[in-house]
Amino acid sequence: MKRRADRPAPDPGAEREKLIGLGRRSIGKSYYPELRNRLDELERFRALLDRVSDAIFVVNADTGLIVDFSGATLSMLDCGRESLLDMPFKGLLPEHIARYADNLFNISTETLSLETEFRHPATPDRLPVPVEMTLRIVEHREVRQAIVVARDISERKRSEESMKKSHDELEVRVRERTRELARANKAKTEFLSIVSHELRTPLTSIIGFAKIIRKKLAERVFPAVDRDRDPKLCKEMDRIGKNIDIIEAEGERLTALINDVLDLAKLEANKVEYRMEPLAPAEFLRPAMDSSSALFQASEVLFLNEVGPDLPQVMGDRHRLIQVMVNLFSNAAKFTRQGSVTCRAELVGAHLRVSVVDTGAGIPQEQQTSIFDKFIQGQESLTDRPTGTGLGLPICRQIIKDHQGHLWVESAPGQGSRFLFTLPVIADAKPE
Ligand code: ADP
Repeated sequence: MKRRADRPAPDPGAEREKLIGLGRRSIGKSYYPELRNRLDELERFRALLDRVSDAIFVVNADTGLIVDFSGATLSMLDCGRESLLDMPFKGLLPEHIARYADNLFNISTETLSLETEFRHPATPDRLPVPVEMTLRIVEHREVRQAIVVARDISERKRSEESMKKSHDELEVRVRERTRELARANKAKTEFLSIVSHELRTPLTSIIGFAKIIRKKLAERVFPAVDRDRDPKLCKEMDRIGKNIDIIEAEGERLTALINDVLDLAKLEANKVEYRMEPLAPAEFLRPAMDSSSALFQASEVLFLNEVGPDLPQVMGDRHRLIQVMVNLFSNAAKFTRQGSVTCRAELVGAHLRVSVVDTGAGIPQEQQTSIFDKFIQGQESLTDRPTGTGLGLPICRQIIKDHQGHLWVESAPGQGSRFLFTLPVIADAKPE
């Protein structure tokens, strides 16, 4: 008897031939080379399949048992070959899908795809592998078989989860931030209304008493002084008179500023109640021109009306639109020394376009955006009218925006300015 160690190493080809019943006698037959070629081909194919990164199962569609598998099946399920062959395929599926496994193999469509998880029942403690599974029913020699290809989608799931996690975190942060901002905005509005109320009350007294003092001085005190006898005292009296004028003018400027701050805070917080009604353009343009005409009386600047006829109605709050116009006229008056300020209104498409055109100082390009920001003032006023608050244009823009319109400027230094705004006209509105 030969010792085990002396035996020659087994020839894998011969082993395979023995396994499938190709004995010595078959080798002599004419079909042998052809068969051997086919076997080699099959083996190459199988080896190729085993290298595929997907798990591939062949399941008997009638019994639901796994009859063959290849690809990455064993590594995906972390199990041995024997534990898979002839086991029910549904044993790999989670409970809620396994319940419908019989239906899976009776599908009427050619292929079925679904996302699920695989776990071998022998390793219940292992985390299930998320897979994208495609199932196709094929019939071979009157046996219905299901070919199942499963792709491991752990990586995709992980990135989906981390994306969802960061999305959720971001959403929480945005919600928190929005709440914080809303709280801060509410506090700001409350603070502004308290401060402006607390400031307005004493200011009214200061301005009121300054007026009384000026009147009393003019009526009682100054006439009692003999101007010729005491020129020094007269000088003092004039200075006191001027100082009181300053107190009054500055007091009024402060009141205007407080009113503007409060107005803008309310507009920004959507706390302004607009009284919207159908308006013919003349209903807000004419009163605004009438009340602004005084600004041009003592100057050489012409105040011109070029409002077109038959303009359709717009939806608007009359008083707020007058406020916008008065503001634009007063700015034009402040920055125009000669020439004209013209109010124009025309229909452009479905919008009424109103413009206030002046022949004044103009605005440098780099300031044409910032002048609509709060407290931004450009050049000094050309007239002796009191300087504004830098809130006029932001207030106008907000009011026009709340009317679904748009306000902007076109200007060049030395060539005047044109402030324009549009308002949507009422569809099938009657002309004036
Ligand atoms: P205020 O007039 O109170 O300063 P506004 O917000 O109304 O504030 O205007 C901001 C700035 O825009 C003004 O200080 C001025 O520099 C510029 N401006 C506004 N209208 C005109 C105009 N018609 N011509 C030249 N500059 C203008």
